[in-house]
Amino acid sequence: MLYGQASQTDIIENYPGFPEGIQGVELGKFFEQQALNFGAKVEYDQVLSLNLQSRPFQIQTYSSSYTADSVILAMGAEPKKLLVPGEAEFTGRGVSYCGTCDGFFTRNKEIHVIGGGDTALEEALFLTRFARSVTVIHRRDALRAGAILENRARSNPKIHFLWNTIVDEIRGDEKVHSLLVRDVITGQKREIPSEAVFIFIGNKPNTDLIDGQVNLDEHGYVKIDDKMTTNIPGVFAAGEIADPHYRQVITSAGMGAAAAISATRYLENLECQ
Ligand code: NAP
Repeated sequence: MLYGQASQTDIIENYPGFPEGIQGVELGKFFEQQALNFGAKVEYDQVLSLNLQSRPFQIQTYSSSYTADSVILAMGAEPKKLLVPGEAEFTGRGVSYCGTCDGFFTRNKEIHVIGGGDTALEEALFLTRFARSVTVIHRRDALRAGAILENRARSNPKIHFLWNTIVDEIRGDEKVHSLLVRDVITGQKREIPSEAVFIFIGNKPNTDLIDGQVNLDEHGYVKIDDKMTTNIPGVFAAGEIADPHYRQVITSAGMGAAAAISATRYLENLECQ
């Protein structure tokens, strides 16, 4: 996906330097143009395989092959999808995977959050700043989230819970207007009004290309040190592929800058050897 997950966001309102906000795609274009101005070369191609065991590293794409003395992994992550009818159709029109990005558009609305983990509750709490009411829909009757977040969510008067419930369909016209939900115990289905639905059922870092080569943490994110270095010298990682915590364009950009500085220093040291 060109410009990554940020391109899915209509307006990014928390990137410094753009007080009126900026569209994700526009910001991506600015990033690209700035890199080109400094002499970067951009190739649009899909990487098919990455061999980090050989030196130089080998990168095979659809249309070419490359060698590299240093590589920065920035393949990002993807929110897990519910895979129900309406989800893809209404993404960006009431279906969202990012409260920080789209929370502003829920002002005074009655919205739903799907998931029972830390992310779902953290985002539900964040969304209460804007929404009139936030109902968390969870497929069980006990949360996966930790006790502190659970207590905070349960004591927030704007947050409600719909237990033992899954969403079978997201319905709407121009925008989302309702959810078809099912009680997993009774099997009973009903349609409930909803003005927006935020899905937080886990994230999947895009590590398929590097599985078995680069060390990952217990949640599947690339392990890096404070210089963005992976277990392989010369291989660095930046952005959501290595960040389960912040997941913002600004934090990913900062990680990218740090990784680029580390890669430059690594290459300079190689030349001195
Ligand atoms: P998670 O812990 O994997 O939780 C995902 C939630 O979504 C679970 O409640 C799961 O239900 C539900 N779910 C999964 N697939 C579903 C489906 N198809 N339909 C409906 N519900 C579904 O993911 P996460 O909340 O993103 O957290 C990821 C990691 O980051 C965790 O280790 C978490 O502790 C950490 N984290 C920590 C903080 C913090 O400490 N402040 C904040 C955010 C994330 P079940 O419970 O039934 O499996």
